[in-house]
Amino acid sequence: MSNPGWIFDKIKGGKKQVFSGYPRSLVQRRRTRKLALHNTEGRNWPSYPGTLNRPGATAPEFTVNLQLEETRQHFSLSEGGRCLRAGGVAANNVCVSVEVIGYCSGPTPDVTDLTRSENAYLAHVLGVICDEMGIPKVSTVEFKRTGAYGINAPQRLSAREFARYEGILGHQHVPGNSHWDPGTFDIDALLEAMGSAKPVSDSEHVTKPSPPSKTAGSKYKRIKNGSKGSGTRSLQAGLREVFPAYKDSVSVQNGQLIDVDDLFGDQTEAWVKEFQGRSGIAIDGIVYSDTWEALEKHGITPTSHAKAKNKIKSSPKAHRAAKGKLRKGSKGKRVEDLQQGLRDTFPAYAGSVSVGNGKLLGVDKIFGVHTEAWVKEFQERTGLETDGVVGPKTTAELNKHGIKF
Ligand SMILES: [Zn+2]
Repeated sequence: MSNPGWIFDKIKGGKKQVFSGYPRSLVQRRRTRKLALHNTEGRNWPSYPGTLNRPGATAPEFTVNLQLEETRQHFSLSEGGRCLRAGGVAANNVCVSVEVIGYCSGPTPDVTDLTRSENAYLAHVLGVICDEMGIPKVSTVEFKRTGAYGINAPQRLSAREFARYEGILGHQHVPGNSHWDPGTFDIDALLEAMGSAKPVSDSEHVTKPSPPSKTAGSKYKRIKNGSKGSGTRSLQAGLREVFPAYKDSVSVQNGQLIDVDDLFGDQTEAWVKEFQGRSGIAIDGIVYSDTWEALEKHGITPTSHAKAKNKIKSSPKAHRAAKGKLRKGSKGKRVEDLQQGLRDTFPAYAGSVSVGNGKLLGVDKIFGVHTEAWVKEFQERTGLETDGVVGPKTTAELNKHGIKF
């Protein structure tokens, strides 16, 4: 989005507090439809040193002091915070985090027992953030205390439920995380103060997509089932080229690659929904602003693949079995395919890996420091161990993005 994402001046008592020692950006994002509430388990402003022992290493985007009515923004909304463990989902990428100073299990200030004015101030802060990011002011999760700690705690969402979720939840609901903050937070009182309707319970945790944000504008054309032309062919060819692995999971014409026939039908809709589900955006099968924005990150735009040949018919490729790990020092055709895949699928990594000076990954069949840095970047963003070695788990995750080698 054009807004750089610093919104502290729209918040009453809002300030900017940037830490000097936080690690480089994990994520870049434009939109999100989720907000996770946390509490600090303390009564003072934290410095979030984490295990890295560097101020800001585990900081959220915002910290709120309800007693002082002061809010500090630590990261731009277009960058994302550091406080969620990735755990298989790039949680910081798709979720704004707000830490409320206080405890959720007894001592004061107790975030589960807010005064009317504290609740009103928090409602104001979250209202500004939700309006800015287009996050629906709803919550369909239950805030728990007993037995709520741990990755497998019953209230925690699965990765898929989390991807589909839109609205406000707690750290205790984020998959791959173990924390149970903010306990039995009174979400109903908060939503009421935010002027939201009563939360609607829904076992699937799916909420209706909200209208496109004002920042999305009319840059993109809206295409859906029944559309022809106007980017449909580019969409189809792009999905086919970048995400061939979808053929094994879409519910329509299972096992076949998407046809590039210029007609947005059931098959195209199924592929779009698959992409939306995996990208954490509303699954409506309609390609408009936020879906186009998400596709663009993978190099797919209304014109990127417009010159693709018409009528590409499905021809499932023979599956090449993995033949051992790839790591620094590896050479050959499989390294070449890995490099080409990373380069084509994640060009944005050029801007964030620490080697290569912003250039795309070279394709030279030799697994060197540059390739290792791109692999680590991928592992970090997908919540894998960042060892730079392409073993079975990393291979499986790369395959999901259509990178086969
Ligand atoms: Zn937390």
